[in-house]
Amino acid sequence: MMDVLKKTTEIKKRIEQIVEKYKGTSQIARDIADNFKSFSVSVSAGGRATHQLQIGEPGADAQKIMEAFQNSLEICFVAKHDMSKVPMKSSFLFSKDISAVRIAAIEWHAEPLFAGTIMHELGHALYFKAQKKSSIAKPGTRAYVDEEVDMHLMEMDVLDAATDHKFLQYIDSIVDRTGKVDDFDSLVGSITSDDMQALSDLLGCNGQCSGEEANILFACIVTSLGFRYAQVYADDPREEMIKFYNYCTRELSHL
Ligand SMILES: [Zn+2]
Repeated sequence: MMDVLKKTTEIKKRIEQIVEKYKGTSQIARDIADNFKSFSVSVSAGGRATHQLQIGEPGADAQKIMEAFQNSLEICFVAKHDMSKVPMKSSFLFSKDISAVRIAAIEWHAEPLFAGTIMHELGHALYFKAQKKSSIAKPGTRAYVDEEVDMHLMEMDVLDAATDHKFLQYIDSIVDRTGKVDDFDSLVGSITSDDMQALSDLLGCNGQCSGEEANILFACIVTSLGFRYAQVYADDPREEMIKFYNYCTRELSHL
């Protein structure tokens, strides 16, 4: 139990530092920082109930605790063997059913990747808190995909900031090298294993990524490539990004 408490306290601090560090990267990132002042951490038991470990500061009065609660978001850790029991297709997602970000309880080694991914999910939590229609839209609908595009764009800026702007520089070099393509298969197919290696190192994997991290890494790279491509070659970049996202959900099960 002490170990769980120690680990969850560490990760709570890590998330708070990430929000602070990247709040200047976009308007959504700034809104995340303004709306989620603190995080409570919980662990999922048997894939159902969650146990709050920390809410408010010890000794704070009730009013303060309520205020802290309103500006706080729950981060729920789900044991790897429990992941099949919760509505969790991904190892990292914002869950509307419990209004918390669910994260697989594994070691998250890759710092830039972790920062980008947590900000992406906090963005969904932000839209849900703001009661945006897209946050309750069904997967595949235009509103749903629009929100995903917002989050991926914000995530891309975080990944870029976390890598001293080397991430988008590298992605852009692939876009440059590949040129205009006839279909998205050709675009995604232009990523070489050297690219994967270089980008994986940039995002902090350094050869020790778990399977969960590798999946997220792949999704980040592919989405960023599609979006940067859209910004260079499409007459209507936003429409192209929507199309690319739909292509990814159709063709690549990782996203
Ligand atoms: Zn998302």
